[in-house]
Amino acid sequence: MAVVGDKRVGCDGCGRTVALEELTTVTMPDGQQVACCPDCEPHARAAAQKGGSLDQRRDTCDGCTGTFLVAELKDVVLDDGTVVTCCPSCATEAPTSGSDDSSAPDTDDTTAVADTSPTTESEHTDEKRYRCTQCHEQVTEEPFRVTTIDERTERLCADCKAAAEDRGIVAAVDMRKTRAREILGVEPDVSDDELRDVYHDQIKRAHPDRKSGSKSAFQLVTEAYERLRTDE
Ligand SMILES: [Zn+2]
Ligand SMILES: [Zn+2]
Ligand SMILES: [Zn+2]
Repeated sequence: MAVVGDKRVGCDGCGRTVALEELTTVTMPDGQQVACCPDCEPHARAAAQKGGSLDQRRDTCDGCTGTFLVAELKDVVLDDGTVVTCCPSCATEAPTSGSDDSSAPDTDDTTAVADTSPTTESEHTDEKRYRCTQCHEQVTEEPFRVTTIDERTERLCADCKAAAEDRGIVAAVDMRKTRAREILGVEPDVSDDELRDVYHDQIKRAHPDRKSGSKSAFQLVTEAYERLRTDE
């Protein structure tokens, strides 16, 4: 079965359209399920811990004084050492000393790096190894199941997947199972019954007709369930 067209959905945080694979759901204290891109996920989790909501993540640009989503704003260090918060257009015009990002304290980057580390289960000696069908490298991270435009199914490491996307031969990328489990919050040995219960619970809250849900969250939860339900 060939699925043509990459699945892309909107991030509930910044509104960017990203590949479904990139999104994850975060449950807010009021039960709201939001779908977040990797940039927004740490913010959403922080907001969830503080009991806030994702909608509050707006801040003022020190340059044009406009209100922007926090994800769009960035700290810029000026020549005299002052740190200002700028929207994308003000950031490019700010008079910095040239060495742009390297000098700025960027906490976001460190969280992003920590996030990509494999889950603790991969630290066992019996960790699962995969082989990329393109470069034949052994990888410990679950490969991406990619459907190519000529309807082949490949299991690619992150590098080969990126290369394939650059070449424009990718028709669809399936959500990885490790990702699907993260989204639903289930263990690898979850039973079919448990999985269904978890899904029913989450899909109710994620439904776009509910205040707690959104179209992206709904799609994400559904996709994650479908991926884990079909055992292949
Ligand atoms: Zn986002
Ligand atoms: Zn601005
Ligand atoms: Zn590869």
